[in-house]
Amino acid sequence: MSSEPAPLTQLTDEEILFRDTVRAFARRQIAPLVREMDEAAVLNKELLRQVFDLGLMGLEIPEEFGGQGGNFFQCVLAIEEISAVDPSVGVVVDVQNTIVNNALLRWANEAQKKRYLPLLASGTVGSYALSEAGSGSDAFALSTIAREESGCFVLNGRKLWISNAAEAGLFVLFANARQSEGYRGITAFLIERDFPGFHVGKKEGKLGIRASSTCELILDDCRVPEENVLGQVGKGYKIAIETLNEGRIAIGAQMVGLAQGALGHSVTYAKQRKQFGQPIGDFQAVRFELAKMATELEAARLLVYNAARLRDAGLPFVKEAAMAKYYASKVAEEIASAAIEIHGGVGITKDYPVEKLWRDAKIGRIYEGTSNIQLLTIAKKLLG
Ligand SMILES: Cc1cc2nc3c(=O)[nH]c(=O)nc-3n(C[C@H](O)[C@H](O)[C@H](O)COP(=O)(O)OP(=O)(O)OC[C@H]3O[C@@H](n4cnc5c(N)ncnc54)[C@H](O)[C@@H]3O)c2cc1C
Repeated sequence: MSSEPAPLTQLTDEEILFRDTVRAFARRQIAPLVREMDEAAVLNKELLRQVFDLGLMGLEIPEEFGGQGGNFFQCVLAIEEISAVDPSVGVVVDVQNTIVNNALLRWANEAQKKRYLPLLASGTVGSYALSEAGSGSDAFALSTIAREESGCFVLNGRKLWISNAAEAGLFVLFANARQSEGYRGITAFLIERDFPGFHVGKKEGKLGIRASSTCELILDDCRVPEENVLGQVGKGYKIAIETLNEGRIAIGAQMVGLAQGALGHSVTYAKQRKQFGQPIGDFQAVRFELAKMATELEAARLLVYNAARLRDAGLPFVKEAAMAKYYASKVAEEIASAAIEIHGGVGITKDYPVEKLWRDAKIGRIYEGTSNIQLLTIAKKLLG
């Protein structure tokens, strides 16, 4: 029995139903709040509740733990659809599913799964805390220390740039438990927000994705029970590498969604706006610009879908994931910028959605590995 490989953008009936449900939710429930959340730099609490109620925060969590029992490709579809309307909400769904839940699904023991997965699926936001002031691209140079004491680890240090930390109840946090062993001492811990000695610090004021909080974390003799080590002591570096390899595909999806949003607004505007007695969309220069935007977007989407489908098929995907993030974030920035130009003067005002999408696009080339770090990964796969 032979089965032909399906075209990458061909979705199953189930995927179409899921995508359409998320699309309708994003247009009905998120769209009216986008501007207010951007200006206030706060995620709407009721909206967050709805995102949980729709099952979007536990997509890959098995049903026995209260999740949807879905796959990674569904995460990509959800992040894409939400980000077409608001990439800030996209990053909440992205971090939760593709790096926090993912880390627990792959490395948590049964007791940890029983305790935390039902919470993550139903109302607890998760954050992923790797970066520090002195360790960004060079993530394993982190200086947060975990000192072993009887029955627990005592953590001291600071984390920086931690997405969704203002709302989070659980943190997958990386600290070094054996400094003499360098990166082989890095260990992942599951930290509950109310553990003694743990504090969420300053929230950053940002250019884009403003409704997604980005905060400092302070660990001041934070006592973490030894049963909250995720995976093994000294294996945190592996957890970080492997979760981020997958997370990058989802950032690609966030950028594809953003670019789709910018293109959609541009097509609508090009049909409505008249100059020289005709819609600007009748001018060949504008038509060609829209055609180029659509082509670049399609190429980015194919890279993202391919990487996601490879991951779900259990095939090697690390190079493809890096390519997807690198390319989709580049294209998103370019498409959002072109969208502003197609809108002319109103494009840079807050009365139209495209200036926000352009601001939101910038982060795509920075978090979960900068574009240079993606190029390093791709080059390593090419050259060894
Ligand atoms: C809004 C936001 C949200 C974030 N969310 C999270 C989060 O939830 N969890 C978390 O752990 N982190 C998070 N981060 C941190 C993010 O992953 C880092 O900012 C990113 O990895 C880059 O690190 P850096 O800012 O220290 O830049 P640096 O590493 O200092 O890089 C500065 C420049 O140097 C270049 N560079 C560095 N090393 C090399 C090299 N070897 N070769 C070529 N060029 C190089 C980079 O490409 C970049 O252009 C977030 C950051 C932001 C801004």
